[in-house]
Amino acid sequence: MQYDLTDRATIEYLLGEHGFSFSKSLGQNFIIDPDVCPRIVEESGIDSGWGVIEIGPGIGVLTAELCAAARKVVSIEIDRKLEPILKKTLADFDNSEIIYGDVLKTDIPALIEEKFRGMDVCVCANLPYYITSPVIMYLLEKGKGLRSLTVMVQKEAAQRLCAPVGSRDSGAITAAVNYRSVAEKLFDVGKNSFMPSPKVDSSVIKLTIREKPPVDVEDEKLFFSVIKAAFGQRRKTALNSLSSGLSLPKSVISQALESCGFTANMRAETMTMQDFAALTKALGTVDN
Ligand code: SAM
Repeated sequence: MQYDLTDRATIEYLLGEHGFSFSKSLGQNFIIDPDVCPRIVEESGIDSGWGVIEIGPGIGVLTAELCAAARKVVSIEIDRKLEPILKKTLADFDNSEIIYGDVLKTDIPALIEEKFRGMDVCVCANLPYYITSPVIMYLLEKGKGLRSLTVMVQKEAAQRLCAPVGSRDSGAITAAVNYRSVAEKLFDVGKNSFMPSPKVDSSVIKLTIREKPPVDVEDEKLFFSVIKAAFGQRRKTALNSLSSGLSLPKSVISQALESCGFTANMRAETMTMQDFAALTKALGTVDN
């Protein structure tokens, strides 16, 4: 039986039948706008050759749309209470598999190897908002084998993730995401497109994984620490933020900034990827 998973009455019937109630702490806001899932699928660029990893299928509204377009869809859902509902709503698809667990504890390369051998693989998801940044960073850092992430996030998060590095809207996550992928905003989705309706609007973004980072960095760990420290105290200069964030004397930071030709009062949000790479190199060589 095909269910219309964007119809409120159908959703209420399914949830009621299984005594399911939404969990705010798990970020459960399900899509009820019939235009949104087809658009996510279309703009993700997948076709019948692709494998898709979905995070948080909920009752399966996006999952069903992905299954109709892709070769195989593996969805990772933390809430086991959704199992009897998903068994019903996805019964017609033989290319859907649900894994019950936490995405942040899932070995993505092993999953790709086991479930999607020989396929191009991407992530498509309406992400649980309480862990947007950790999930994106986890997938970018530990998701070897993924080609892209097409994900719905809060509008404000999308703005930061897709901002040019070195612009006012950029933050530590902007630079980190930019190092591993090319970020683009696809479209906005209003808060009334969800059940229950969240407090803020959302946007769908696409992160296309880079084959090679845009800058050469020898010590990636230090590079990410420098970015994090530089943005640590937004209203302070990079000198002060870096000194407290990296626990290094100001004289050491000054020396590194100077050797890169930067002024002592420069701010993190004006720094480019090249600036962060140069500063990382300088900090890796100064005596302290
Ligand atoms: N895809 C559905 C939709 O668009 O209607 C549901 C999206 S809802 C915003 C987020 C989903 O992620 C929920 O089903 C929630 O239970 C699940 N979730 C929350 N935290 C998770 C985690 N750490 N790992 C896997 N799934 C998680």
